[in-house]
Order: sequence, then C-alpha cells, then structure tokens
Amino acid sequence: MPELPEVETVRRGLQPHLEGARLTSVRLNRPDLRFPFPERMEERLTGARVVSLARRAKFLVADTDRDERLVMHLGMSGRFTIIDPAAADLPDAPGQFVHAQPTLPQHDHVEFETEHGVRIVFNDPRRFGYMQMFTAGEDPFYEIGPEPLSNAFSGESLYEALKGRRSPIKTALLDQHVVAGLGNIYVCEALFRSGVSPRRLALNLGKARCDRLANEVRNVLEDAIRAGGSTLKDYAHADGGLGYFQHSFGVYGREGEACTQCQMPVQRTVQSGRSTFFCSNCQR
Ligand SMILES: [Zn+2]
Repeated sequence: MPELPEVETVRRGLQPHLEGARLTSVRLNRPDLRFPFPERMEERLTGARVVSLARRAKFLVADTDRDERLVMHLGMSGRFTIIDPAAADLPDAPGQFVHAQPTLPQHDHVEFETEHGVRIVFNDPRRFGYMQMFTAGEDPFYEIGPEPLSNAFSGESLYEALKGRRSPIKTALLDQHVVAGLGNIYVCEALFRSGVSPRRLALNLGKARCDRLANEVRNVLEDAIRAGGSTLKDYAHADGGLGYFQHSFGVYGREGEACTQCQMPVQRTVQSGRSTFFCSNCQR
C-alpha cells in the first residue's frame, strides 16, 4: 500500500502536468471506486484550472480556480499514468511514469485531459482508491496530525502528542492523529534508526528520544522520497512495490537476517495485528 513517500513521488510526477493547467475534459468510466464519485464531478472540474497540487498525509489535493478542491487517495493499487504526446519520443522524460507491468485498460476508471493535450489516467484494479470534492472553505484533514516533513512536526510536538499514551510507540506512530502519513514500513525503519524499541510505551519516551525519533522519521521519509523520485521505472507494481528504497530497508521484511548495525538477527513480532521488524540489541 502506498505510504507518504510513494504518494509524494506520484505528486511530483503529476505536478508539472497539472499545476497551472486547465482541465479540458474529465471522464469517469464507472459510477464509483471505493466510494461513489462526487456529484457532477465531470461538470465541476471540466474547464477549471488546477491552481495547486499538494499532498496531505496520503492524499493528493488539487485546488481549482473555482474554489473547489479535489482530494484523491490511491488506496491499495491506484496509479496514475501520464500520456504526454509532446514527450512520446522521450520515454524517460521527467514525470512520465513507465511501469514494469502494463496497466489493463478495463481498470482505467478516471481520465483527465489538460489544455496541453496531456492525458492523466487513473487506473485501479482493486478499487480501494477514491476521489472526493470539497469547497475551498472546508478542511477535510482537520483530524489528521502534523505533516512529518513540515515545521509543525518536531521532537517537541511528538513529545506532547505521546503524553499519557499507554500504547507501544510503534502503535502510537501509526495513529494518524500523532503524525500524518506514516505506515508500517517507515515506522519500523524510523524506530530502528533512532534505536527505540517498538515495544516501549509511548508515554515513556523522554524529550531527547522524541527529538531523535522525530529526526529519524524525517530522514527515513526524505531518503525514501529520494529513492522513489529518482527512478519510477518499477514504481507501483500491482502489489504496491516502490521505487528502490526497499533495497535500503534496515529491518523491514528482514526477519532472521543480520542487523546492519550489530549483525544480530532481525526479529519480527506482531503488534496491533501488524508485523513489526526490529533489532532487540540496537533498539531499547
Ligand atoms: Zn542490531
């Protein structure tokens, strides 16, 4: 499932084609994905200019010059393909997605076309993705915690958010109220990098360890964005495979293999129904 770095990678690919461009056509090939499409979605978007394409947590957010906001979620298997006639001879042109596995046309559910003749196709075989529309005044994200790559997230804010929480730190970091956009992979990696045991109770993390953990959350996300951003060739397999950051995992998916720090075997446990990978020697 795409996490923050993958969604950010998708955003960076789409941005040059969408931001500032007027949508000349919007086509829905079915009535719904995970949820029904917004009412009159085609009419509300056709002719509108996309003022900005941002990301909040794992959502892509396109604001239009009609004071409306299109929010898109990739779900499990959603992906965008950019078809740019001007770049047809340049398969490695920046922003052009080249998939290892071709998408099947029967899963092309939404098709946008811009004034520059660029087609942006949303393909989603499993249909857990969704699109919603809001007016500019509405904030659909008010319940979501701070963006980990923004100034709103720090050791201090993390310390405050963890106060009184009796759950393990691993579980607390997956809670979107504490910090936005983190999933299982990046939580495991950030805890490993900061030397914090996933089983430690959230309320027992002092300020110094919160500082370190907040820094490592940021570092691991930035490293992953860099890895996903620099090669899109194998991006978004149907199973959600990523750029190439999976080759840099310290612990995730490495049960029984040597810890990259101390050579002891990486361990796996299950917390809140999800696998946690960690080194009991390096993480205390
Ligand atoms: Zn270790």
